[in-house]
Amino acid sequence: MTDPSRHDTAIARRVTIQGVVQGVGFRPFVFRIAQIHQIKGWVLNGDDGVEIHAEGKKTDFEAFLMTVDAQAPATAHVKKIIVQVVVSEGFSDFQILDSRRDAAPSVRISPDLCICDECLRELRNPFDRRNQYPYINCTNCGPRYSIINRLPYDRSGTTMADWKLCPSCQQDYDNPLDRRHHAQPTACDSCGPGYRLLEAHLTTDGSERAIRRAAELLVAGSIVAVKGLGGHHLACNANNPVAIAALRERKFRKERPFALLVRNLQEARNYVLLSQCHEQLLQSVVRPIVLAPAKVKLPGVSPDNSTLGVMLPYAPIHHLLFDYGAPSPLVLTSGNRSSEPIAYRDEDAIRRLTGIADAILIGDRPIARRVDDSVVAVRSEKPFMIRRARGYSPGAVSELPIVDPILALGSDLKNAIALVVRGQVFVSQHIGDLGDCDTDESFQNTVHDLLAMYEINSSELTIIHDLHPQFTSTRFALSLPARRHIAVQHHHAHIASVLAEHNLLNERVVGVAFDGTGLGTDGTIWGGEFFVGSVCDGFERCHSLRPARIPGGDAAARYPVQAAAGFLAELTDLPNLTNPPFHFPKRFTDAMKLVEKNLRCFVSTSMGRLFDTVAALVGFLHESTYEGQAAIWLEHQAERCPPQAPYPFPELDYRPLLKHIISDRLAGRPVSEIASAFHAAVVTATMQQVLHLLGKRTVNTVVFSGGVFQNRLLLDSLLHELKQYPEIRILINEQVPTNDGGICVGQAALGVF
Ligand code: ZN
Ligand code: ZN
Ligand code: FE
Repeated sequence: MTDPSRHDTAIARRVTIQGVVQGVGFRPFVFRIAQIHQIKGWVLNGDDGVEIHAEGKKTDFEAFLMTVDAQAPATAHVKKIIVQVVVSEGFSDFQILDSRRDAAPSVRISPDLCICDECLRELRNPFDRRNQYPYINCTNCGPRYSIINRLPYDRSGTTMADWKLCPSCQQDYDNPLDRRHHAQPTACDSCGPGYRLLEAHLTTDGSERAIRRAAELLVAGSIVAVKGLGGHHLACNANNPVAIAALRERKFRKERPFALLVRNLQEARNYVLLSQCHEQLLQSVVRPIVLAPAKVKLPGVSPDNSTLGVMLPYAPIHHLLFDYGAPSPLVLTSGNRSSEPIAYRDEDAIRRLTGIADAILIGDRPIARRVDDSVVAVRSEKPFMIRRARGYSPGAVSELPIVDPILALGSDLKNAIALVVRGQVFVSQHIGDLGDCDTDESFQNTVHDLLAMYEINSSELTIIHDLHPQFTSTRFALSLPARRHIAVQHHHAHIASVLAEHNLLNERVVGVAFDGTGLGTDGTIWGGEFFVGSVCDGFERCHSLRPARIPGGDAAARYPVQAAAGFLAELTDLPNLTNPPFHFPKRFTDAMKLVEKNLRCFVSTSMGRLFDTVAALVGFLHESTYEGQAAIWLEHQAERCPPQAPYPFPELDYRPLLKHIISDRLAGRPVSEIASAFHAAVVTATMQQVLHLLGKRTVNTVVFSGGVFQNRLLLDSLLHELKQYPEIRILINEQVPTNDGGICVGQAALGVF
């Protein structure tokens, strides 16, 4: 028989809770649970997560711990709970202590959170002290990463340091039972920052008047810059084609799709077709831009594209704009000129956005770092990251078996970087295409920023960079002193990125990497690759698209007809493509001459450029104004007709394929049918190669990665075909982009071995 009193012995335990637990109201939550279960001691934000010293009866402690685990705040993410036996110190109450720091921090910084329901109710409650206050927040919501200057996460380390709390706010902040207990950015209209509106000859002060005036201007068809969480946006009425055309012209953004900010979910359903996964993403605390099939055509918003990006309001300022009558939906796009990074400092925004925006709605709270909106699509009813930034960054995406820090600098396009601290892979926000002065600066700042936040000296680091010696990221990597530098091949990194995020470092796979370009280990440009191998043992290149000589360097990626010259030069009996129905421009003829003389040509197996070639053959003759535009256009054409039988594409030799396309085009076959038969050809040829390699190498996992797999028709068709083989395991990227934004994660994983 057990003695019941033994269960009630007084015990003392040290509990460490790891995960996203700081800046999400965890300490007040622990405080409340401690009160309920008569636990004495303290809780604080330590460097390893939340630390609790708990004293009390054994049964009470067990109930306390179970409740802490089971009822953690919705925005927290508990990864690990460590319990240690300690000596009782005889506490008589439970306290929330200030943050302590001793060792190097490995706590996860919380990403920015959207406004919570309680704050939203207060925002709209005329009797609440914070009614209509544009910076309302609490421990469950509001800015985090975008306001943190340094760790630990205390007000003095944020961009709110300059605002002293008024007595009422101080009371809330100090009260352990208040929702704003230790809410670092808390404020109200009488003590905190506000908004003002700048027009050409007029400044409107006072948050409410300024925001109301901005809403009026939006109704009237103006373009208004609005400062949000991670930068300044440009907004205009999405149902006003004149305003949209003006925005495109002033922003130098010709055809790239704009995202919509929609008042609420019901309204979003009018514009896009939403699955359950789409709706979950839209309503998640991240509030990303969600790509979904368009239901309506809004002129100028998303030209030649069957999807539309929508998001719901996430900052109080967005809700206020709609509450004050701004039209819904609004076009909401990053505040910059095309290709520049989003403006986030006020002076910079005023300088750069004057001339684009008719008015600038400026908020006083500084932004510590630039964080764009995240973009997520859905594949197989799961999130499929396109751009990882606000709300996700700088969260960890996987764990690697390594103690020493690794910095992986990614690729030059769609750059993002990864920092591995004690095995946790933290991924930065999307930085952009390197090679532009401002973006390069932003890239370097992000590197220094993350290293500083985790207190890592670059000389301790293993730095991973792309194989390409001319990349900005490579040159910067080599300029940083480090323990060692490692070059990783681009497409190996694509495949490894998938395996790293699924924590399958030993898994032997067939990896298919289709993208635009990346330097191969043989000195040629790769982009249509089949590998066999694993992250820990490396990858062997087993097959690829038949190579072509592509003329003219970077321009080949911008002009589909130029890439086409490279592939078409491999064909015999080519008709005159400058004649109807082809109408190829002079650029093509010039490019052909370069190929014939083998001048300024590079050998490439790029699947991305093959998509460009086919797009050119069926009528996409102008410049691509954004990466992947020709392929997106081609996919859009293919979706307009029922699926067609595939063209021959034996072992990825494109010559018979292109010959058939040319003769079909000459015979007047509809463009959509040709586009569809081409997609089917890529699917069939890829399937054949994958099945062949799986069988030959006795592997049963296949990985698809690379920017080309953003093509929904292609990926969905492959996944559909593979359903016939239930024994084959299929892996794709989910948390990090399949485009070059995910490269850093693969590099980091390959850097371990
Ligand atoms: Zn809140
Ligand atoms: Zn106040
Ligand atoms: Fe790539």
